[in-house]
Amino acid sequence: MKYASVKGERREAQPKLYGICPNCDREVVAKCGQQRIWHWSHLGKLECDRWWEPETKWHRTWKAVFPQEWQEVMHTAADSERHIADVMNNRGWVLELQHSPITPEERLSRERFYGSMVWVVDGMRYKRDLAAFRQVVENGSIISDSPLRISSPLTARAGIFRRWAPIHWPVFIDFGDEEFRIAGFPPPEHVLWQLQLVPRTGDVVVAPVIRESFKRWFGLDGGALQHLVALRPEQPPRRRYTGGRPPFLPRARPRRRF
Ligand SMILES: [Zn+2]
Repeated sequence: MKYASVKGERREAQPKLYGICPNCDREVVAKCGQQRIWHWSHLGKLECDRWWEPETKWHRTWKAVFPQEWQEVMHTAADSERHIADVMNNRGWVLELQHSPITPEERLSRERFYGSMVWVVDGMRYKRDLAAFRQVVENGSIISDSPLRISSPLTARAGIFRRWAPIHWPVFIDFGDEEFRIAGFPPPEHVLWQLQLVPRTGDVVVAPVIRESFKRWFGLDGGALQHLVALRPEQPPRRRYTGGRPPFLPRARPRRRF
């Protein structure tokens, strides 16, 4: 955990500090070593939230995008089950940051527990996920221009797609600064890769979202989520496309939830 209570104050881990876990009220100790990111750990090593995973720099970078009071929010269900949401915004939406794979059962129980939620998945956890995703994005077919959506028969075989389908709540895969090309062109801005379900076929397709718009959308502004759109040469084409200008430019889309 990033935060614990020290003498009634919410504090980050610092060497030699002891605190109280906000979830179970037991004592926690600050772990400030070289190997792992500084964090709070329960005495006796037993974490009280079975859904909790050891935090990485990736988790912390994402949490830090949002206000401090939105990070690590206790959530208690009617049957008094308690969990710590990675981020919960001022509209009651939970953002779960998932670095390690989880079973479909666990995923479903979290979705039921939190209700309105969004997943951001660390795509860089496994090399094979990056390779499989790249195949889909770079060799798949564009099935719609606005939003730009990419489909490929390979999604049925790739682990990262199988693990995250079916989709009940929005799922975004984060490949950090990895560079991809869509139809030969790099996206004009950093993107997250949203997985979307096509209800008619049950296929999962990829819809790139501008990363900064995701932060605003989930954040204080509550702005619109901006998907990439494909701009094609005007009809009828009089000149051959000679390159130079990428055909993909972000454009604001009408406001929609996801
Ligand atoms: Zn605890």
